[in-house]
Amino acid sequence: RGDSAVADRTVDSICPYCGVGCQLTYHVKDEQILFVEGRNGPSNQGRLCVKGRFGFDYPNHPARLTRPLIRREGVPKGMDPGFDPANPLTHFREASWEEALDLAANGLTGLKAAHGPDALAGFGSAKCSNEEAWLFQKLVRTGFGSNHVDHCTRLCHASSVAALMECLGSGAVTASFMQALQADVVILTGCNPAVNHPVAATYFKQAARNGTRLIILDPRGQALDAYAWRSVRFTPGGDVALYNAMLHVIVAEKLYDPAYIDAHTEGFEALATSVVDMTPEAMAPLCGVDPGTICELARAYAGAERAMIFWGMGISQHVHGTDNARCLISLALACGHTGRPGTGLHPLRGQNNVQGASDAGLIPMVLPDYQPVGDAQLRAAFEELWNTPLDATSGLTVVEIMDAILAGTIKGMYILGENPAMSDPDLHHARQALAALEHLVVQDLFVTETAQFADVILPASAWPEKEGTVTNTNRQVQLGRAAVAPPGEAKPDWWIIQEIARRFGLVWDYAHPREVFAEMKQGMHSLDHISWERLEDEGSVTYPCPADDAPGADVVFSDAFPRAGGRAKFSPTRPLPPDEPVDADYPTVLTTGRLLEHWHTGAMTRRSRVLDDLEPEAAASLAPAELGRLGVAPGESITIATRRGTITLVARADPRMPEGMVFVPFAFVEAAANLLTNPALDPFGKIPEFKYAACRLSPAVS
Ligand code: SF4
Repeated sequence: RGDSAVADRTVDSICPYCGVGCQLTYHVKDEQILFVEGRNGPSNQGRLCVKGRFGFDYPNHPARLTRPLIRREGVPKGMDPGFDPANPLTHFREASWEEALDLAANGLTGLKAAHGPDALAGFGSAKCSNEEAWLFQKLVRTGFGSNHVDHCTRLCHASSVAALMECLGSGAVTASFMQALQADVVILTGCNPAVNHPVAATYFKQAARNGTRLIILDPRGQALDAYAWRSVRFTPGGDVALYNAMLHVIVAEKLYDPAYIDAHTEGFEALATSVVDMTPEAMAPLCGVDPGTICELARAYAGAERAMIFWGMGISQHVHGTDNARCLISLALACGHTGRPGTGLHPLRGQNNVQGASDAGLIPMVLPDYQPVGDAQLRAAFEELWNTPLDATSGLTVVEIMDAILAGTIKGMYILGENPAMSDPDLHHARQALAALEHLVVQDLFVTETAQFADVILPASAWPEKEGTVTNTNRQVQLGRAAVAPPGEAKPDWWIIQEIARRFGLVWDYAHPREVFAEMKQGMHSLDHISWERLEDEGSVTYPCPADDAPGADVVFSDAFPRAGGRAKFSPTRPLPPDEPVDADYPTVLTTGRLLEHWHTGAMTRRSRVLDDLEPEAAASLAPAELGRLGVAPGESITIATRRGTITLVARADPRMPEGMVFVPFAFVEAAANLLTNPALDPFGKIPEFKYAACRLSPAVS
């Protein structure tokens, strides 16, 4: 705080990490951010977690890209163990922007000319602004000529969105997490907010202190257990069985809300029939929760006047992820727990702008605002807006694109701010695919693991260096402002995308992100009554917003759902086993995720001094008894093997872990968790089963 005396200016912006979207202020002197303070934003009320408060120095890391790079002739594509990202000139040479952009675009246009539009694909980023996401998907759709555009929503909440779209007609949350303060019961399932959404977790703690019954359902324990009314461990992969058993109790004991069901839903009879045989006694062996507890949970949720359900990737990252979300939606609809203050369904969104990037159309099967590419009428509106015909066929998703590269279909890619060489499942396969590309353009801040496969690397801007809007998990559209200039020759992402688009022959002439935002408003009714000027004045406006001078809707669907007839739909499910159940050869469940200090693949947080000092190395978390069985002491190393790969890393005793399970964060390239994970996909959301793979543990051989 002593630094405040020397800061020469302050800049209000948004945290670049998680979907909570905390508002913050950068304190700047001589083009350096000295420190960060929380602001009184609607989702954080002055609070920040360790990432928001201390993770601001990554843009100044010595490995930061400041000039375009082109692969040196003869250097093979791939992750050379001898490569140093801070000294990339061993494998790449510096180039002017003109040369790099020409090479980047010519490689892509050449492949399109030779093989057609389906030879190209693009990954955008949930770390970019809404305007950059809009431009990126527009480039792929109007320049590349296909819908092969996706981003990391495919790896986080695609299955939640699939279920919400199917059942409610909208993929966003029905109520903000601040509404938890008005709820009588809050269920947190498949999420670990104290780690992954730390400021949201403060609202859950506050609610519990105020008397809200906090129910935590998860295979692992967590810090919020200390605030829980009930914290219940279920068998990994047993979630659909647990929720259906709760639905059985609600139906059998007539705890549902018949008036709400009659007025607002369809398909309840089918749901009721479907759960008849899924009694607590029948489901207990599958979910590992005793029947009495299942009945107690169902009665508490159904009996509450106001109740909410929050979930995370423990729900979505399964081959039955969509079924998981369908179950949670059915619980809320059966009990009438949507559309009122203190009620609702809320998938806690991961990245800072995964909601906005999805809204802006960075998804292969839908245009902006989730308008299906196959709907001729909806597509026509975008064809008119962009003055070009559009492909009516859904594009490929993240993992499908990797498969298509190895099948020889996709030959060129443009990857903006994503790191599939670390974030995709079964990394041997993903890295093999990246190496097989004939032409790869990567736009990023650093020579990430993915950039090591690139032909051309374009140096982009970090969040504190750019202007743009982002949309957080609460549907709050917020304005980020540039605090410092990009270093060297690094450029704003929107500028780079536009230069590539121009080389595809597209007539683009945006001078500022606000012009892109103005175009977005023409194609996205979700942005009605939200203007750039309003965001400059107010900082944050929630969508949907009914008028230019009205606040947005914190709680939606009070009267009707955005489906035909205005009714939400029950979608019955049946329990399914994990894709790769444990067996005698691989007897332990591997689950992966994030840490409080490290975000996603670590590209930013591992280059942030405080955060990397706090968690400098990969560690596997296991129950103390599990370590004892292995004969390994905390701090010693273990080897984890799956059918796809092997990693060795330090073991950490974690009393919150159940026996028979190991947790590995996926931020560490030295022990990349995704070398082990299973690429099997949920058939609806096309999301991989990151939360369950069969593995074998052993003491590391020294
Ligand atoms: Fe940033 Fe999320 Fe932490 Fe808020 S809770 S400071 S948005 S990482």
